Amino acid sequence: MKMHQMGSLRLIQLHDGYGAIDGNRVFYPAKQHEWEEGLAPDPIGFMLNAYQPLLIIEGEQYTLVDTGFGEANPNRKGDLREELAQMRISAEQITRVITTHAHGDHVGGNTITRDGVPVPAYPNAEYIVQEREIAAMRESNDELWRLRFAPLEQEGQLRLVEGEVALSEAITLWPMAGHTEGQQGLRISSGGQHAVFVGDLALSYKNFENPPWGSSWAWSREHDEANRRKVAEWAVEHEAMIIMYHDPRTPWIRLQRAGDGYIATPVA
Ligand SMILES: [Zn+2]
Repeated sequence: MKMHQMGSLRLIQLHDGYGAIDGNRVFYPAKQHEWEEGLAPDPIGFMLNAYQPLLIIEGEQYTLVDTGFGEANPNRKGDLREELAQMRISAEQITRVITTHAHGDHVGGNTITRDGVPVPAYPNAEYIVQEREIAAMRESNDELWRLRFAPLEQEGQLRLVEGEVALSEAITLWPMAGHTEGQQGLRISSGGQHAVFVGDLALSYKNFENPPWGSSWAWSREHDEANRRKVAEWAVEHEAMIIMYHDPRTPWIRLQRAGDGYIATPVA
């Protein structure tokens, strides 16, 4: 488990299992011989993909960023709720859940099944999502709404926001449309140090090293690349740590400019 003290905050990387993903789709339009070095793809070009929610502890405030695949992932090797239990953090202690975007691997753990019915997994948390993301999801994937969001709305736990919103002195929501229409990341600052959680703006450090390489299934590849460049520039200027959700080996990096792209250095 990775942990990092940043000013008065504690950042903890959690694990909710692993999967495999087609590298040609993660680094579209690059070809395998261009991206494969260091990523150990299997014979059909799939590489390891992790589901890694972030826990931010800020005094009594416990913020969880994304909730993993949850019950929907059959091949777990990592269970977010077990990790929390090992740290003696109860589901009731989580006061805030930030959803970067409405894809199953990020919101699967929003709810758990009790007596055959989905109920909020974190009963005391406010769940925060961009309004635009919810609207787009309800048009395209009503089942995800019904299973992972409607139970939150029913309990009065769903908070829809628009644009940049400061949640506290340390945490600010940062819209990063591209991968999806209403994706958001967050800027985290404390004690003069900075970090940025990027959701699926980058699935691997190589998406930042080569900003044109992005997820082939993005809502807008153009916005995706533009926001990757914008976030990378902010990170360079603020010497910020970048936190990724899916990168299994180098989820926390810092960037330096290099030509038209960047060079990433892992943060231990
Ligand atoms: Zn994802």
